[in-house]
Amino acid sequence: MTTAPIETGHVQQRRILATAIPGPRSQLLHERKLSAVSAGVGTGLPVYVERAGGGILVDVDGNHLIDFGSGIAVTTVGNSAPRVVEAVKSQVEDFTHTCFMVTPYEEYVAVCERLNALTPGDGQKRSALFNSGSEAVENAIKIARVFTGRTAIITFEHAYHGRTNLTMALTAKNMPYKQGFGPFAGEIYRVPSPYPYRWPTGVDRCAEQAFDDFVAQVHIQVGEQNTAAVIIEPIQGEGGFIVPPAGYLKAIADWCAQNGILFIADEIQSGFCRTGDWFACDHEGVVPDLITTAKGIAGGLPLAAVTGRADVMDSVHGGGLGGTYGGNPVACAAALAAIEIMETEDLCGRAREIEALFMPRLRELAEKFAVIGDIRGRGAMIAVELVAGGGDKTPNPALTAAINTYCHSQGVVTLTAGTFGNVLRFLPPLSAGDDLLSEGLDILERAFVLNA
Ligand SMILES: *Cc1c(COP(=O)(O)O)cnc(C)c1O
Repeated sequence: MTTAPIETGHVQQRRILATAIPGPRSQLLHERKLSAVSAGVGTGLPVYVERAGGGILVDVDGNHLIDFGSGIAVTTVGNSAPRVVEAVKSQVEDFTHTCFMVTPYEEYVAVCERLNALTPGDGQKRSALFNSGSEAVENAIKIARVFTGRTAIITFEHAYHGRTNLTMALTAKNMPYKQGFGPFAGEIYRVPSPYPYRWPTGVDRCAEQAFDDFVAQVHIQVGEQNTAAVIIEPIQGEGGFIVPPAGYLKAIADWCAQNGILFIADEIQSGFCRTGDWFACDHEGVVPDLITTAKGIAGGLPLAAVTGRADVMDSVHGGGLGGTYGGNPVACAAALAAIEIMETEDLCGRAREIEALFMPRLRELAEKFAVIGDIRGRGAMIAVELVAGGGDKTPNPALTAAINTYCHSQGVVTLTAGTFGNVLRFLPPLSAGDDLLSEGLDILERAFVLNA
Protein backbone atom coordinates (compact mmCIF):
# COMPACT_ATOMS: atom_id res chain seq x y z
CA MET A 1 0.00 0.00 0.00
CA THR A 2 1.23 3.47 -0.79
CA THR A 3 0.88 6.38 1.59
CA ALA A 4 0.07 10.03 1.03
CA PRO A 5 1.70 11.03 -2.25
CA ILE A 6 1.75 14.75 -1.56
CA GLU A 7 3.11 17.03 1.09
CA THR A 8 0.76 17.50 4.01
CA GLY A 9 2.33 20.51 5.68
CA HIS A 10 2.35 21.11 9.39
CA VAL A 11 -0.32 18.74 10.66
CA GLN A 12 0.51 15.41 12.24
CA GLN A 13 -1.23 12.68 10.20
CA ARG A 14 -2.72 10.77 13.10
CA ARG A 15 -6.17 10.53 14.70
CA ILE A 16 -6.01 11.81 18.27
CA LEU A 17 -8.95 12.02 20.65
CA ALA A 18 -7.86 14.53 23.29
CA THR A 19 -11.35 15.19 24.70
CA ALA A 20 -14.90 14.05 24.11
CA ILE A 21 -16.21 15.36 20.79
CA PRO A 22 -17.14 18.15 20.72
CA GLY A 23 -14.68 19.21 23.43
CA PRO A 24 -15.14 22.02 25.97
CA ARG A 25 -13.61 24.78 23.85
CA SER A 26 -15.71 23.83 20.86
CA GLN A 27 -18.78 23.83 23.09
CA LEU A 28 -18.01 27.35 24.29
CA LEU A 29 -17.54 28.53 20.71
CA HIS A 30 -20.78 26.87 19.78
CA GLU A 31 -22.59 28.86 22.47
CA ARG A 32 -21.20 32.00 20.84
CA LYS A 33 -22.23 30.72 17.43
CA LEU A 34 -25.81 30.22 18.56
CA SER A 35 -26.10 33.80 19.78
CA ALA A 36 -24.19 35.40 16.87
CA VAL A 37 -24.87 33.38 13.72
CA SER A 38 -28.26 32.99 12.05
CA ALA A 39 -30.00 29.78 13.06
CA GLY A 40 -30.52 29.20 9.33
CA VAL A 41 -26.82 28.35 8.97
CA GLY A 42 -26.45 24.80 10.26
CA THR A 43 -23.32 22.85 11.20
CA GLY A 44 -23.01 19.09 10.75
CA LEU A 45 -20.43 18.54 13.50
CA PRO A 46 -19.79 21.48 15.86
CA VAL A 47 -16.07 21.01 16.41
CA TYR A 48 -14.30 24.27 15.74
CA VAL A 49 -11.28 23.81 13.50
CA GLU A 50 -7.96 25.45 14.19
CA ARG A 51 -5.63 23.83 11.65
CA ALA A 52 -5.91 21.24 8.90
CA GLY A 53 -3.79 19.43 6.35
CA GLY A 54 -3.39 16.10 4.59
CA GLY A 55 -6.29 13.98 5.85
CA ILE A 56 -6.61 15.60 9.29
CA LEU A 57 -8.66 18.42 10.84
CA VAL A 58 -7.35 19.68 14.20
CA ASP A 59 -9.92 21.27 16.48
CA VAL A 60 -9.53 23.88 19.23
CA ASP A 61 -9.42 21.13 21.88
CA GLY A 62 -6.48 19.39 20.19
CA ASN A 63 -8.52 16.55 18.69
CA HIS A 64 -7.18 15.29 15.36
CA LEU A 65 -10.09 14.14 13.22
CA ILE A 66 -9.88 12.04 10.06
CA ASP A 67 -11.44 13.99 7.21
CA PHE A 68 -13.84 11.98 5.04
CA GLY A 69 -15.53 15.09 3.63
CA SER A 70 -12.95 17.61 2.32
CA GLY A 71 -15.35 20.40 3.30
CA ILE A 72 -17.72 18.90 0.70
CA ALA A 73 -15.24 17.93 -2.02
CA VAL A 74 -13.29 21.19 -1.84
CA THR A 75 -9.89 20.42 -0.32
CA THR A 76 -9.06 17.79 -2.91
CA VAL A 77 -5.35 18.70 -2.81
CA GLY A 78 -5.51 18.87 0.99
CA ASN A 79 -6.09 21.76 3.37
CA SER A 80 -3.44 24.47 3.26
CA ALA A 81 -1.47 22.42 0.74
CA PRO A 82 2.04 23.90 0.92
CA ARG A 83 2.20 24.95 -2.73
CA VAL A 84 -1.24 26.58 -2.52
CA VAL A 85 -0.14 28.45 0.62
CA GLU A 86 2.98 29.70 -1.16
CA ALA A 87 1.02 30.88 -4.19
CA VAL A 88 -1.58 32.63 -2.03
CA LYS A 89 1.03 34.38 0.12
CA SER A 90 2.90 35.63 -2.90
CA GLN A 91 -0.27 36.88 -4.59
CA VAL A 92 -1.56 38.61 -1.43
CA GLU A 93 1.71 40.52 -1.28
CA ASP A 94 1.44 41.63 -4.91
CA PHE A 95 -2.20 42.75 -4.99
CA THR A 96 -5.50 41.44 -3.64
CA HIS A 97 -8.11 42.87 -6.00
CA THR A 98 -8.61 45.13 -8.96
CA CYS A 99 -11.86 43.74 -10.38
CA PHE A 100 -11.13 41.95 -13.65
CA MET A 101 -13.84 44.04 -15.37
CA VAL A 102 -11.97 47.25 -14.47
CA THR A 103 -8.25 46.44 -14.82
CA PRO A 104 -7.45 42.81 -15.67
CA TYR A 105 -4.55 40.57 -14.61
CA GLU A 106 -2.76 37.48 -15.93
CA GLU A 107 -3.86 34.99 -13.24
CA TYR A 108 -7.49 35.12 -14.41
CA VAL A 109 -6.49 34.48 -18.02
CA ALA A 110 -4.14 31.66 -16.97
CA VAL A 111 -6.91 29.87 -15.03
CA CYS A 112 -9.20 30.12 -18.07
CA GLU A 113 -6.43 28.70 -20.28
CA ARG A 114 -6.00 25.76 -17.88
CA LEU A 115 -9.75 25.13 -17.73
CA ASN A 116 -10.07 25.26 -21.51
CA ALA A 117 -7.28 22.71 -21.87
CA LEU A 118 -8.33 20.33 -19.06
CA THR A 119 -12.11 20.10 -19.57
CA PRO A 120 -13.46 17.45 -21.98
CA GLY A 121 -13.30 18.16 -25.71
CA ASP A 122 -10.59 19.38 -28.08
CA GLY A 123 -12.53 22.24 -29.71
CA GLN A 124 -12.03 25.95 -29.13
CA LYS A 125 -13.21 26.88 -25.64
CA ARG A 126 -13.63 29.93 -23.45
CA SER A 127 -14.19 30.34 -19.71
CA ALA A 128 -15.60 32.90 -17.28
CA LEU A 129 -14.88 32.95 -13.54
CA PHE A 130 -17.22 33.43 -10.57
CA ASN A 131 -17.24 33.05 -6.78
CA SER A 132 -19.51 30.11 -6.02
CA GLY A 133 -20.90 27.05 -7.68
CA SER A 134 -24.41 28.49 -7.66
CA GLU A 135 -23.18 31.59 -9.44
CA ALA A 136 -21.48 29.47 -12.10
CA VAL A 137 -24.70 27.50 -12.68
CA GLU A 138 -26.73 30.73 -12.94
CA ASN A 139 -24.31 32.03 -15.54
CA ALA A 140 -24.32 28.80 -17.54
CA ILE A 141 -28.10 29.15 -17.79
CA LYS A 142 -27.84 32.81 -18.81
CA ILE A 143 -25.34 31.91 -21.55
CA ALA A 144 -27.43 28.99 -22.81
CA ARG A 145 -30.51 31.21 -23.11
CA VAL A 146 -28.68 33.93 -25.03
CA PHE A 147 -27.03 31.46 -27.41
CA THR A 148 -30.16 29.45 -28.19
CA GLY A 149 -32.73 32.25 -27.96
CA ARG A 150 -34.84 29.75 -25.97
CA THR A 151 -35.83 29.78 -22.30
CA ALA A 152 -36.75 26.31 -20.99
CA ILE A 153 -34.24 24.39 -18.88
CA ILE A 154 -34.46 20.65 -18.12
CA THR A 155 -33.30 19.43 -14.72
CA PHE A 156 -33.56 16.08 -12.91
CA GLU A 157 -35.09 14.47 -9.87
CA HIS A 158 -32.52 14.33 -7.01
CA ALA A 159 -30.58 17.22 -8.61
CA TYR A 160 -28.65 19.77 -6.59
CA HIS A 161 -27.42 22.95 -8.26
CA GLY A 162 -27.32 25.50 -5.41
CA ARG A 163 -29.26 27.84 -3.14
CA THR A 164 -29.76 31.07 -5.11
CA ASN A 165 -33.19 31.69 -6.57
CA LEU A 166 -32.58 30.19 -10.00
CA THR A 167 -30.51 27.31 -8.63
CA MET A 168 -33.10 26.52 -5.93
CA ALA A 169 -35.54 26.11 -8.79
CA LEU A 170 -33.12 23.63 -10.40
CA THR A 171 -32.53 21.78 -7.11
CA ALA A 172 -34.96 18.93 -6.42
CA LYS A 173 -35.16 18.63 -2.65
CA ASN A 174 -37.48 20.87 -0.66
CA MET A 175 -36.14 20.47 2.91
CA PRO A 176 -33.93 22.23 3.77
CA TYR A 177 -33.01 23.96 0.51
CA LYS A 178 -36.29 25.44 -0.71
CA GLN A 179 -38.84 25.37 2.12
CA GLY A 180 -40.49 28.78 2.40
CA PHE A 181 -38.07 30.47 0.01
CA GLY A 182 -40.27 30.63 -3.11
CA PRO A 183 -41.55 31.77 -5.51
CA PHE A 184 -38.87 30.17 -7.63
CA ALA A 185 -37.56 31.04 -11.08
CA GLY A 186 -39.75 29.89 -13.96
CA GLU A 187 -39.18 27.81 -17.09
CA ILE A 188 -37.55 24.96 -15.18
CA TYR A 189 -38.83 21.42 -15.94
CA ARG A 190 -37.93 18.29 -14.01
CA VAL A 191 -37.53 14.79 -15.48
CA PRO A 192 -36.78 11.40 -13.85
CA SER A 193 -33.24 10.71 -12.68
CA PRO A 194 -31.51 7.59 -14.03
CA TYR A 195 -31.25 6.04 -10.54
CA PRO A 196 -30.38 2.38 -11.14
CA TYR A 197 -30.92 1.17 -7.57
CA ARG A 198 -34.42 2.63 -7.39
CA TRP A 199 -35.51 2.27 -11.02
CA PRO A 200 -39.08 0.93 -10.79
CA THR A 201 -38.62 -1.85 -13.36
CA GLY A 202 -35.14 -2.85 -12.18
CA VAL A 203 -31.56 -1.86 -12.65
CA ASP A 204 -31.18 -3.62 -16.03
CA ARG A 205 -33.94 -1.60 -17.65
CA CYS A 206 -32.81 1.74 -16.25
CA ALA A 207 -30.49 2.88 -19.05
CA GLU A 208 -32.93 2.44 -21.89
CA GLN A 209 -36.13 3.40 -20.09
CA ALA A 210 -34.63 6.45 -18.39
CA PHE A 211 -33.53 7.80 -21.76
CA ASP A 212 -36.90 7.08 -23.40
CA ASP A 213 -38.70 8.73 -20.46
CA PHE A 214 -36.46 11.74 -20.74
CA VAL A 215 -37.17 12.20 -24.45
CA ALA A 216 -40.91 11.71 -23.96
CA GLN A 217 -41.12 14.10 -21.00
CA VAL A 218 -39.25 16.90 -22.76
CA HIS A 219 -41.49 16.51 -25.79
CA ILE A 220 -44.73 16.37 -23.81
CA GLN A 221 -44.05 18.94 -21.06
CA VAL A 222 -41.85 21.46 -22.82
CA GLY A 223 -41.20 20.99 -26.54
CA GLU A 224 -37.68 20.52 -27.87
CA GLN A 225 -37.90 23.79 -29.81
CA ASN A 226 -38.38 25.72 -26.56
CA THR A 227 -35.57 24.05 -24.69
CA ALA A 228 -32.32 25.97 -24.21
CA ALA A 229 -30.40 23.43 -22.15
CA VAL A 230 -30.35 20.22 -20.17
CA ILE A 231 -28.34 20.55 -16.96
CA ILE A 232 -27.13 17.37 -15.30
CA GLU A 233 -24.62 16.30 -12.66
CA PRO A 234 -22.71 13.42 -14.30
CA ILE A 235 -22.76 11.85 -10.84
CA GLN A 236 -25.49 13.37 -8.69
CA GLY A 237 -23.86 14.76 -5.53
CA GLU A 238 -26.26 15.88 -2.78
CA GLY A 239 -28.83 13.52 -4.30
CA GLY A 240 -26.72 10.60 -3.06
CA PHE A 241 -23.87 9.93 -5.51
CA ILE A 242 -26.23 8.48 -8.07
CA VAL A 243 -24.22 7.17 -11.01
CA PRO A 244 -26.25 6.95 -14.23
CA PRO A 245 -26.04 3.70 -16.19
CA ALA A 246 -23.20 3.51 -18.76
CA GLY A 247 -24.17 5.23 -22.00
CA TYR A 248 -26.98 7.32 -20.55
CA LEU A 249 -25.07 10.63 -20.49
CA LYS A 250 -23.82 10.08 -24.04
CA ALA A 251 -27.35 9.35 -25.25
CA ILE A 252 -28.63 12.58 -23.67
CA ALA A 253 -25.72 14.63 -25.04
CA ASP A 254 -26.21 13.25 -28.57
CA TRP A 255 -29.95 13.87 -28.41
CA CYS A 256 -29.31 17.45 -27.25
CA ALA A 257 -26.97 18.03 -30.20
CA GLN A 258 -29.62 16.72 -32.62
CA ASN A 259 -32.19 19.12 -31.19
CA GLY A 260 -30.15 22.32 -30.92
CA ILE A 261 -30.21 22.04 -27.10
CA LEU A 262 -27.11 22.69 -25.00
CA PHE A 263 -25.83 19.94 -22.71
CA ILE A 264 -24.54 21.47 -19.45
CA ALA A 265 -22.54 19.20 -17.14
CA ASP A 266 -22.52 20.45 -13.55
CA GLU A 267 -19.18 19.04 -12.36
CA ILE A 268 -18.96 21.29 -9.33
CA GLN A 269 -18.75 18.28 -7.00
CA SER A 270 -17.44 15.59 -9.39
CA GLY A 271 -14.69 17.62 -11.08
CA PHE A 272 -10.94 18.01 -10.57
CA CYS A 273 -9.70 14.43 -10.14
CA ARG A 274 -12.41 13.53 -7.64
CA THR A 275 -13.74 10.58 -9.66
CA GLY A 276 -10.35 9.29 -10.84
CA ASP A 277 -10.31 11.36 -14.00
CA TRP A 278 -10.23 15.12 -14.46
CA PHE A 279 -14.01 15.22 -14.87
CA ALA A 280 -16.73 12.60 -14.48
CA CYS A 281 -17.74 13.16 -18.13
CA ASP A 282 -14.31 11.85 -19.16
CA HIS A 283 -15.23 8.32 -18.01
CA GLU A 284 -18.03 8.24 -20.56
CA GLY A 285 -16.37 10.09 -23.43
CA VAL A 286 -18.98 12.83 -23.15
CA VAL A 287 -18.12 16.37 -24.27
CA PRO A 288 -20.52 18.89 -22.74
CA ASP A 289 -21.30 22.18 -24.48
CA LEU A 290 -20.84 23.93 -21.13
CA ILE A 291 -19.33 22.67 -17.89
CA THR A 292 -19.60 24.29 -14.46
CA THR A 293 -16.79 23.83 -11.93
CA ALA A 294 -16.04 25.06 -8.40
CA LYS A 295 -15.37 23.14 -5.14
CA GLY A 296 -12.09 21.26 -5.81
CA ILE A 297 -10.74 23.90 -8.19
CA ALA A 298 -8.69 26.10 -5.84
CA GLY A 299 -7.58 24.15 -2.76
CA GLY A 300 -10.23 25.78 -0.54
CA LEU A 301 -10.36 29.31 -1.89
CA PRO A 302 -13.68 30.43 -3.37
CA LEU A 303 -13.61 30.17 -7.15
CA ALA A 304 -16.02 28.84 -9.77
CA ALA A 305 -16.14 28.74 -13.53
CA VAL A 306 -18.17 28.16 -16.64
CA THR A 307 -16.18 26.66 -19.50
CA GLY A 308 -17.49 25.71 -22.90
CA ARG A 309 -17.65 25.96 -26.65
CA ALA A 310 -16.16 29.22 -27.85
CA ASP A 311 -19.15 30.02 -30.09
CA VAL A 312 -21.53 29.56 -27.17
CA MET A 313 -19.43 31.44 -24.61
CA ASP A 314 -18.74 34.31 -27.03
CA SER A 315 -22.41 34.73 -27.98
CA VAL A 316 -22.99 36.93 -24.93
CA HIS A 317 -22.82 40.72 -25.39
CA GLY A 318 -19.82 42.49 -23.83
CA GLY A 319 -20.44 43.27 -20.15
CA GLY A 320 -23.18 40.64 -19.90
CA LEU A 321 -21.13 38.40 -17.63
CA GLY A 322 -19.06 39.29 -14.60
CA GLY A 323 -19.23 40.42 -10.99
CA THR A 324 -17.12 42.44 -8.59
CA TYR A 325 -15.10 39.55 -7.16
CA GLY A 326 -15.37 36.87 -9.86
CA GLY A 327 -11.93 35.40 -10.54
CA ASN A 328 -10.29 37.13 -7.57
CA PRO A 329 -6.50 37.08 -8.08
CA VAL A 330 -5.77 35.28 -4.80
CA ALA A 331 -8.30 32.54 -5.65
CA CYS A 332 -6.82 32.31 -9.17
CA ALA A 333 -3.28 31.92 -7.80
CA ALA A 334 -4.56 29.16 -5.52
CA ALA A 335 -6.28 27.43 -8.45
CA LEU A 336 -3.13 27.49 -10.58
CA ALA A 337 -1.18 25.91 -7.72
CA ALA A 338 -3.91 23.35 -6.96
CA ILE A 339 -4.12 22.30 -10.62
CA GLU A 340 -0.34 21.97 -10.74
CA ILE A 341 -0.44 19.67 -7.70
CA MET A 342 -3.16 17.55 -9.34
CA GLU A 343 -1.00 17.19 -12.45
CA THR A 344 2.41 16.63 -10.93
CA GLU A 345 1.17 14.29 -8.19
CA ASP A 346 -1.26 12.44 -10.48
CA LEU A 347 -4.19 12.97 -8.13
CA CYS A 348 -6.51 11.30 -10.64
CA GLY A 349 -4.45 8.14 -10.07
CA ARG A 350 -4.62 8.73 -6.32
CA ALA A 351 -8.44 8.93 -6.50
CA ARG A 352 -8.46 5.54 -8.24
CA GLU A 353 -6.22 4.11 -5.50
CA ILE A 354 -8.68 5.39 -2.91
CA GLU A 355 -11.51 3.69 -4.78
CA ALA A 356 -9.48 0.46 -4.73
CA LEU A 357 -9.03 0.84 -0.97
CA PHE A 358 -12.67 1.70 -0.14
CA MET A 359 -14.65 -0.58 -2.42
CA PRO A 360 -13.53 -4.01 -1.11
CA ARG A 361 -13.96 -2.84 2.49
CA LEU A 362 -17.47 -1.56 1.78
CA ARG A 363 -18.39 -4.75 -0.09
CA GLU A 364 -17.24 -6.80 2.90
CA LEU A 365 -19.44 -4.64 5.12
CA ALA A 366 -22.40 -5.10 2.78
CA GLU A 367 -22.02 -8.88 3.07
CA LYS A 368 -22.31 -8.62 6.85
CA PHE A 369 -24.99 -5.94 7.03
CA ALA A 370 -28.12 -6.30 4.92
CA VAL A 371 -29.01 -2.67 5.64
CA ILE A 372 -26.41 -1.66 3.04
CA GLY A 373 -28.63 -1.64 -0.03
CA ASP A 374 -26.21 -0.14 -2.53
CA ILE A 375 -22.55 0.84 -2.85
CA ARG A 376 -21.72 3.22 -5.66
CA GLY A 377 -19.51 6.01 -6.90
CA ARG A 378 -16.21 6.51 -8.63
CA GLY A 379 -12.71 7.34 -7.46
CA ALA A 380 -12.81 9.17 -4.15
CA MET A 381 -16.52 9.95 -4.53
CA ILE A 382 -18.13 6.90 -2.95
CA ALA A 383 -21.38 6.29 -1.08
CA VAL A 384 -23.43 3.61 0.62
CA GLU A 385 -27.22 3.74 0.67
CA LEU A 386 -28.87 2.39 3.81
CA VAL A 387 -32.25 0.66 3.71
CA ALA A 388 -34.49 -1.50 5.90
CA GLY A 389 -32.71 -4.62 4.56
CA GLY A 390 -33.72 -8.13 3.59
CA GLY A 391 -34.83 -7.03 0.13
CA ASP A 392 -36.82 -4.10 1.56
CA LYS A 393 -35.45 -0.91 0.01
CA THR A 394 -37.27 1.44 2.36
CA PRO A 395 -34.79 4.24 3.12
CA ASN A 396 -33.20 4.11 6.57
CA PRO A 397 -32.35 7.72 7.53
CA ALA A 398 -32.39 6.92 11.29
CA LEU A 399 -29.59 4.37 10.98
CA THR A 400 -27.69 6.68 8.63
CA ALA A 401 -27.82 9.43 11.24
CA ALA A 402 -26.76 7.02 14.02
CA ILE A 403 -23.74 5.80 12.06
CA ASN A 404 -22.78 9.33 11.11
CA THR A 405 -23.01 10.42 14.77
CA TYR A 406 -20.92 7.47 15.95
CA CYS A 407 -18.19 8.24 13.38
CA HIS A 408 -18.16 11.87 14.53
CA SER A 409 -17.84 10.83 18.18
CA GLN A 410 -14.80 8.72 17.25
CA GLY A 411 -13.10 11.52 15.32
CA VAL A 412 -14.08 10.72 11.74
CA VAL A 413 -15.78 13.52 9.84
CA THR A 414 -18.36 11.75 7.68
CA LEU A 415 -21.14 13.35 5.62
CA THR A 416 -24.61 12.20 4.72
CA ALA A 417 -26.53 12.88 1.52
CA GLY A 418 -29.53 11.69 -0.46
CA THR A 419 -33.05 12.84 -1.07
CA PHE A 420 -34.18 10.43 1.66
CA GLY A 421 -31.26 11.25 4.01
CA ASN A 422 -30.12 7.62 3.88
CA VAL A 423 -26.77 7.88 2.14
CA LEU A 424 -23.32 8.05 3.74
CA ARG A 425 -20.91 9.70 1.33
CA PHE A 426 -17.14 9.63 1.37
CA LEU A 427 -15.11 12.46 -0.15
CA PRO A 428 -11.69 12.25 1.47
CA PRO A 429 -8.95 14.68 0.49
CA LEU A 430 -6.69 13.05 -2.09
CA SER A 431 -3.81 14.00 0.19
CA ALA A 432 -4.95 11.58 2.91
CA GLY A 433 -2.72 8.55 3.37
CA ASP A 434 -3.87 4.94 3.24
CA ASP A 435 -3.32 4.39 6.97
CA LEU A 436 -5.69 7.19 7.92
CA LEU A 437 -8.29 6.11 5.39
CA SER A 438 -8.14 2.50 6.61
CA GLU A 439 -8.50 3.64 10.20
CA GLY A 440 -11.54 5.71 9.23
CA LEU A 441 -13.04 2.61 7.58
CA ASP A 442 -12.36 0.56 10.74
CA ILE A 443 -14.40 3.09 12.69
CA LEU A 444 -17.15 3.00 10.10
CA GLU A 445 -17.24 -0.78 10.48
CA ARG A 446 -17.52 -0.47 14.25
CA ALA A 447 -20.39 1.97 13.74
CA PHE A 448 -22.26 -0.73 11.82
CA VAL A 449 -21.46 -3.39 14.43
CA LEU A 450 -22.85 -1.18 17.20
CA ASN A 451 -25.85 0.29 15.38
CA ALA A 452 -27.05 -1.95 12.56
C1 LIG B 1 -22.12 22.41 -4.21
C2 LIG B 1 -22.78 22.32 -5.54
C3 LIG B 1 -23.33 23.46 -6.17
C4 LIG B 1 -23.38 24.81 -5.49
O1 LIG B 1 -22.12 25.33 -5.21
P1 LIG B 1 -21.98 26.49 -4.11
O2 LIG B 1 -20.54 26.89 -4.21
O3 LIG B 1 -22.35 25.91 -2.80
O4 LIG B 1 -22.90 27.59 -4.53
C5 LIG B 1 -23.85 23.31 -7.43
N1 LIG B 1 -23.84 22.11 -8.05
C6 LIG B 1 -23.32 21.02 -7.50
C7 LIG B 1 -23.33 19.73 -8.26
C8 LIG B 1 -22.79 21.08 -6.21
O5 LIG B 1 -22.31 19.96 -5.64
